[in-house]
Amino acid sequence: MNAEQLRNLIIFITVAVATFKVVLNVLDVRSSRTALIGSPSEEVKKAVEYTVTKRRFESTNTVISAVVVLTFLVLGLYGQIQQAVSSAIEGQIWQDLFFLLVMALGLFILGIPGSVYKTFVIEAKFGFNRTTVKTFIIDRIRGIVLGVVILGPILLGLLWIYSLLPNQIWWIAFLAINLISFITAAIGTSVILPLFNKLKELPEGELRDKILALCEKQNYKLKRIYVMDSSKRSSKSNAFFSGIGKTKTIVLFDSLISKHTVDEVVGVLGHEMGHDKLGHIRSMLLLNMLQSFIIFALFGWALQEPALSEALGGNGIQLVLSLIAFGMLFSPINFLLGIFDNSMTRRNEHGADIFASKVYGKEHIISALQRLSSDNLANPAPHPLYVLAYYSHPPASKRVSHVQEAKLV
Ligand SMILES: [Zn+2]
Repeated sequence: MNAEQLRNLIIFITVAVATFKVVLNVLDVRSSRTALIGSPSEEVKKAVEYTVTKRRFESTNTVISAVVVLTFLVLGLYGQIQQAVSSAIEGQIWQDLFFLLVMALGLFILGIPGSVYKTFVIEAKFGFNRTTVKTFIIDRIRGIVLGVVILGPILLGLLWIYSLLPNQIWWIAFLAINLISFITAAIGTSVILPLFNKLKELPEGELRDKILALCEKQNYKLKRIYVMDSSKRSSKSNAFFSGIGKTKTIVLFDSLISKHTVDEVVGVLGHEMGHDKLGHIRSMLLLNMLQSFIIFALFGWALQEPALSEALGGNGIQLVLSLIAFGMLFSPINFLLGIFDNSMTRRNEHGADIFASKVYGKEHIISALQRLSSDNLANPAPHPLYVLAYYSHPPASKRVSHVQEAKLV
């Protein structure tokens, strides 16, 4: 395939993927409206309205991104920017680093109007937003600084290795990226999370006693139980376990504690514990490693093909242009991989719900699920194809009936 044909293929893929995403959104909107038949409660009406608003926003975003990408492709702007950077800066490594910086900054700036609209219009309208303009701006600045401080040196290192061993870069990059995600998982809660949120030890009381009792019963070693001030950004609630190895740290969103009964919160933790005990965390980690290995190997193979960067207007093999072109060519496969991963995590959710029901009682799990779903205004009637493609968790009604029907022994 020559550069011209490859460019046309990328254009076709971009249009096809965007169209498919918009169609899924339209289907989900139609499906959600079936919940309005009869005499629905105010809560159901609000959940449908929230779904419709979000799907329209997602479609708009998809169309705008596709138009920007298509403009860049048709006008050959990727290649032009890369050549402009190359003539302004000395040295291939610094040229590539600067080009990636320009692209990342461009994406970041393009994304700002969307996140402003989502946070201060959509989430605010439905009563979820707690983010002040000040927090919003500080978050963005912290994000940029953190990105530059952490990713900058890593990228520089990888570009340097590429200049020495161009044919080996794919597996070195694979190892580097997996090492970084391992380190982030190990120190994320103690080092990165405190940069964005305040974490306080959960005070003495009924909740703490019941959590400790559950952990004791399940032979689960805890390092800390934290409460995170998530309510300064959003009223949505959650909880998670973090840490690598036998000793874990629990992080509870403050909104989870304020909106749920003590037994519901402990039930939610029982569910998170289930993920760990049933080996879900390990198996998903292995699956992601395997997938990323295949992707990097494919990229290493594709990198030797000059048409890849030439399709974006480059001259000969240019690592950074090949990277972008590969990402676009790969996007349909990425979408399929997402569907596969989501089907795995949805199955795991059922498993963790059953685990929690066994160790802490199904009534607490059911009431926690129902409250979580209504508080987060989940779509009361999602379209099956939308669920298949995007839902990492099954719809709450399915989870509740699964728990109700399960025989717990
Ligand atoms: Zn879960």
